[in-house]
Amino acid sequence: MVVVVKKGTNEQQLSHLVDWLRSMNIDVQTSEGQYETVLGLIGDTSRIDMDLISGLDIVDSVTRITEPYKSANRKFHPDDTVIDVCGHKIGDGNLAYIAGPCSVESPAQITSIAKEVKEAGAAFLRGGAFKPRTSPYAFQGMGAEGLRLLETAKKETGMPIVTEIMDLRHLDLFENVDVIQVGARNMQNFELLKELGKTDKPILLKRGLSATMEELLMSAEYIMAGGNSKVMLCERGIRTFEPYTRNTMDISAIALLKEKTHLPIIADPSHAAGISRLVRPLALAAVAAGADGLMIEVHNDPKHALCDGPQALTPPQFAQVVREAEAIKQVMRGNI
Ligand code: PEP
Ligand code: MN
Repeated sequence: MVVVVKKGTNEQQLSHLVDWLRSMNIDVQTSEGQYETVLGLIGDTSRIDMDLISGLDIVDSVTRITEPYKSANRKFHPDDTVIDVCGHKIGDGNLAYIAGPCSVESPAQITSIAKEVKEAGAAFLRGGAFKPRTSPYAFQGMGAEGLRLLETAKKETGMPIVTEIMDLRHLDLFENVDVIQVGARNMQNFELLKELGKTDKPILLKRGLSATMEELLMSAEYIMAGGNSKVMLCERGIRTFEPYTRNTMDISAIALLKEKTHLPIIADPSHAAGISRLVRPLALAAVAAGADGLMIEVHNDPKHALCDGPQALTPPQFAQVVREAEAIKQVMRGNI
């Protein structure tokens, strides 16, 4: 971090600032120029409040050189993180397919979709039991009963389950859930993130509707700072000025996050597009950009789905995406 001190600052004010920084275990190197004094801060500056320093009367500007996230940063952990979920590896160079309906609707619905997506190549079953709906009058999910149905589907198919937690008070109910999803709307629910940091469950952290990549990484940092390093990030589209799609899939985020972090990156083209026919091209683009996996909403009867039917693929459509994604993966590896 570099702090530029204003011209005219006296010795006493300057040493006050330097002593304060040193008291936080930061080494400070001072260079006095003709017009201003520049302080180079060396050490772990992730705990330093940049806004607090730039608000001081004697400070002209503050520039961060190192990113504020440490645990998630590839600079300090060059190798890819590989997360093992019931023997299925995420981030090991193969594509992880997470598929299933937006929400669990009935025993027959979740079990039959589970079987079909497994047949099509999915390793993980998704399905929401607690649903974050914009309208309080819309279907809110089956709650604890939905989690029980997911567990039954897991018993029948052997597929690990991925489902969203919305409230800290529900954490005990998630004991048999294999991957806990934190939805876009909860990406900055810091108390929830801190609690998940104390668990050893793999966490799928979705990018907030208008979150920057750094904010997403800082949210991952919250979980990791608590001791849980099994975090995967999910690009699910961000809100832009474009109304033709539900969100705008940020493909550049996938490629860039792969540079910035060692955590696996999962792409969710379903919530990005909001339109089923766009899911395939977005999924393939995400794989080309380097995604470690795809999370795709699949329903056996999209027209009658209780949630997000317009963006759901049918099982055969999902099977086609898997085949094509595998081919793109081979191209990206240079095998074709
Ligand atoms: C979901 O995955 O069903 C979901 C609600 O996603 P998001 O949080 O990305 O909107
Ligand atoms: Mn959905």
